[in-house]
Amino acid sequence: MIIILKKNANEQKVNQLIEQLKAKGLEIHESQGVQTRLLGLVGDTTQVDIENIQANEVVDQVRRIQEPYKKANRTFHPADTVIEIAGRKIGGGHFQVIAGPCSVESEAQIIEVARAVKASGAGLLRGGAFKPRTSPYSFQGLRADGLELLRKARKATGLPIVTELMNTTHIPLFEDVDVVQVGARNMQNFELLKELGHTKKTVLLKRGLSNTLEELLMSAEYIMAGGNENVILCERGIRTFETSMRNTLDISAVPMLRRLTHLPIVIDPSHAAGMSWMVESLSMAAIAAGADGLMIEVHNSPETALSDGAQSLTPAQFDALMKKVKKTVEFFGKTMD
Ligand code: PEP
Ligand code: MN
Repeated sequence: MIIILKKNANEQKVNQLIEQLKAKGLEIHESQGVQTRLLGLVGDTTQVDIENIQANEVVDQVRRIQEPYKKANRTFHPADTVIEIAGRKIGGGHFQVIAGPCSVESEAQIIEVARAVKASGAGLLRGGAFKPRTSPYSFQGLRADGLELLRKARKATGLPIVTELMNTTHIPLFEDVDVVQVGARNMQNFELLKELGHTKKTVLLKRGLSNTLEELLMSAEYIMAGGNENVILCERGIRTFETSMRNTLDISAVPMLRRLTHLPIVIDPSHAAGMSWMVESLSMAAIAAGADGLMIEVHNSPETALSDGAQSLTPAQFDALMKKVKKTVEFFGKTMD
């Protein structure tokens, strides 16, 4: 971090600022040019409040040289992180497909879909029990009963389960859930992130509708700073001026995140597109861009689904897609185990 001081800054106040920064364990390198005087901060600047420094009367400008996240940063952790979920690996050349309905609706539905996606080669089962819906009058999920049905589906198929947690008070209910999903709308629910940081649960962290990649990584940092480094990032489409799709899949997020972080990256083409016919193209693009996995909505009867039917694949469509996914993943040198 570099601090550019104002011309004719009060010497005593500059010294006070230097002492304040040294007290944070930073080394300060001063440099006096013809026009400007700079302070170079060397050390861990993640704890420096940039706005606080900007507000100091002797400071003209502050510039960050390094990203404000540390644990998620590839600079400090060059190797790809590989996360293992009930024997399935993701990241560092290991590719996983998470598939299942938007919402868990009944025992028959979740078990039928779980069996089908497993037969097609999915590694994990998804299904929402607690649903974040735009309207309070829409189906809100089966809640704790939905979690119970997911456990039954896991027992029937052996597939680990991925399901969304919306509230810190529900954490005890998620004790035996394999992967806890933090949805797009909760990406900056900092209390939820902090609590998950104190668990050892693998977290699938979805990018918010209007959040930058740096904000996504800062949210991952919240979880990691608490001691839980098992974070998978998920790009699920962002809101742009385009209205023909539900969201705009930010495919460039994949190579950019790959450069910035060592964490595994998953693409959710279903919520990005909002329509089932587009899921295949976006899935292929995601693999080509270097994603470590896909999360795809599959329903045994999309036309009667209680949520997101329009973007859900039938089991037969998912099976056809998986044949292409396997070939493409192999072509790009990754394994699905
Ligand atoms: C979901 O995966 O069911 C979901 C609600 O996704 P998002 O948070 O990305 O909207
Ligand atoms: Mn959905």
